[in-house]
Amino acid sequence: MFGAVVVGLGVAGSVRIRDMLAPLPGSAAEKLIFKGFVSRRSLGPQQGVEQVSVEDALSRDDISVAFVCTENESHEENVRQFLAAGKHVCVEYPMTLSYEAAVDLWSLAEEKGVILHEEHIELFTADFKYLKEKVQGQKLQEGTLHFTGGSLKPRFGFLAFSGIARLTWLVDLFGELTVNDATLEENPSNNYSKMTAKLLTADNSPLTWIEERGPGLPRAKNINFRFDSFSLTEVPPPASRGAVGLFMQDLVAFAAKLSGLVPQEEMKREKRRVLHCLSLAQKIQDLCQK
Ligand code: NAD
Repeated sequence: MFGAVVVGLGVAGSVRIRDMLAPLPGSAAEKLIFKGFVSRRSLGPQQGVEQVSVEDALSRDDISVAFVCTENESHEENVRQFLAAGKHVCVEYPMTLSYEAAVDLWSLAEEKGVILHEEHIELFTADFKYLKEKVQGQKLQEGTLHFTGGSLKPRFGFLAFSGIARLTWLVDLFGELTVNDATLEENPSNNYSKMTAKLLTADNSPLTWIEERGPGLPRAKNINFRFDSFSLTEVPPPASRGAVGLFMQDLVAFAAKLSGLVPQEEMKREKRRVLHCLSLAQKIQDLCQK
């Protein structure tokens, strides 16, 4: 069994607590025992469980796992201190706001012999599964993924990192990419920002990734993927919502790693994908800020 704490009690942190208190029956998630939560605020019990200090969470022997669910800016510091204390870590995406920091954290996890897992619930969605099936075996000619959403919350980092879920979709669908160009349009007076990244697949097919955020913009993903014989411009609404929540699926995946149920090769492939996406995000940020 693995005693676990949740650090950061926002939307994601609260879902983590709920899921650990009622894990999917018969799944590896039953191996996680929720021990308490860490918050900067002084709060009463949450969902029946007490707050613990970060010092206790780091030093207690009955706590071997931390879920880092804070704003993106403090992921690196939180992940580092739990790894350094020899705890396994599940961090909500993006792991860090720089590529170098992620490489460094992964080395630390390996040195300590613990699991470092970056949550990617977007890969469990019905939309993604639909696209993955359609794209299988097809040769992309060119494509665009345009994400729109409300203004980014403070402390969530640069668009290429906060939007890593979209980049992860593109890499999982089309393989490793290179960055050709990237630009940023901003209007700080009304919290508007638009990043346009020009990417290339291994066969030099162009892919454009746009992250656009501003007040009142609907949360939506617009796609246009052109293949030799057809184009994909929309994803039909799923017939039904999956029975198992997205965060629960991620919890099961993380717990399976803790329990030694995931082959090393698969973990290596995942690490490579995570670091590749973060390296692309870094290049995009560097080009936008040049
Ligand atoms: P949020 O703003 O609701 O929650 C962040 C919480 O962390 C806040 O309660 C804040 O007080 C707390 N916090 C910050 N620094 C802390 C610290 N040092 N110690 C303890 N608590 C601290 O944000 P959210 O939507 O829950 O997102 C959290 C993370 O989850 C982000 O990395 C985000 O990218 C990721 N994520 C969220 C969702 C989602 O659906 N909300 C989905 C996927 C990934």
